[in-house]
Amino acid sequence: MLDILLKGVNIKGNILDVGIAQGEFVLLEPHIGVSAQRELDCRGWLAVPGLVDCHLHLDKSLLMERAHYVDVSGPEKGALTRAEKATFTEADIRARAEKVIKAGFAAGNLLIRTSVDVDPLVGTTGVKALLALKEKYAGLVNIQVAAFAQEGFEKYPASVDLLRQALDMGADLVGGHTIVDTDGRRHIDTILNLAREYGVEAEFHLDESGKREHYLLPYVTQRMKEMGLKGRVTGIHCCTLSALTPEERKEALDFMVKGSLKVISAPTAISTRNIAPVKELLAAGLLVGIGSDNVADFFNPIGSGDIKQAALLLAYVQRFFTFELVGQLWDMLTYRGAALLGYSGYDIALGQRADITLFEALNPRDVLARQASPALIIRGGQIHYRKNGDQWW
Ligand SMILES: [Zn+2]
Repeated sequence: MLDILLKGVNIKGNILDVGIAQGEFVLLEPHIGVSAQRELDCRGWLAVPGLVDCHLHLDKSLLMERAHYVDVSGPEKGALTRAEKATFTEADIRARAEKVIKAGFAAGNLLIRTSVDVDPLVGTTGVKALLALKEKYAGLVNIQVAAFAQEGFEKYPASVDLLRQALDMGADLVGGHTIVDTDGRRHIDTILNLAREYGVEAEFHLDESGKREHYLLPYVTQRMKEMGLKGRVTGIHCCTLSALTPEERKEALDFMVKGSLKVISAPTAISTRNIAPVKELLAAGLLVGIGSDNVADFFNPIGSGDIKQAALLLAYVQRFFTFELVGQLWDMLTYRGAALLGYSGYDIALGQRADITLFEALNPRDVLARQASPALIIRGGQIHYRKNGDQWW
């Protein structure tokens, strides 16, 4: 007797019945004749373990609930954010982040990595709040916490020790921002040294301005190789790639491939600059994911934290329109994104934990075009959400 039997599920283009017992996938066959406590007709709809949002800022999310957007420069928006940040409390961060996590769950975002600011303005309060939420939602939403040096070290040298505290508290990785200090190389070295010291991965908001004078990608790829961190560093944005000549870009891709640099595209950045050429990154064989980035804050007042929106935006901006290219987008939102985050066990396969998210759609194009929400979410063999049926928590 199975706990759950899903009839007619589209898994990577194959229509299969899925048998779940004791929290695991135990049968995956075209036709399963075994009885189950619950049997659901899935009508050939598309299923994945869950969607993956590789980058967002949960600690600074939803500031638009209490502040007004003003259309000013990036540095001015940074100043507005710092003023808000100085007022953050753990309860405040937790309440806003939790709202986004819950909304993301309903949208199918089940594996997420959030950057969390760590500096003298907010201390490690954000990390504390997000680690508590990570624990609270364990098994439902997998949350990775990156302790993030948003404000740099030149103005806030105490941030180095605070990052150490955050890593001691259990932050999953360390994050830097290559244009916030005048000496970007020194900033990069500080972050990579912490990554090596703690045995964690590093990520950088890398070349975010898109300007040639901020081009530090070659330095990052060089240092990660020298420091034995090949394949353990991710570049978020990498916008300057779009400002290079074809020859320079070819050289940059070569650096990235040799260092196994992982890349996260945050397509909403297109509102103020050109973004990295994702098709070229994929063609080079790099591990590329997509991130929502800012969620209803000064930098993106209409961000929602639904990763499907970022994917749709990228599809338009860089013309991911053919069946094959939409498939690549979907791969970034699912299997490739999970691989980028180093999440093992992300698969609908025999013996795996029964995590399945079913969209009322026949293929990825249909999900993205209609921005479809899941019809069913099963986590560890438990039904947590069924459209018009069970609610989650
Ligand atoms: Zn970001």
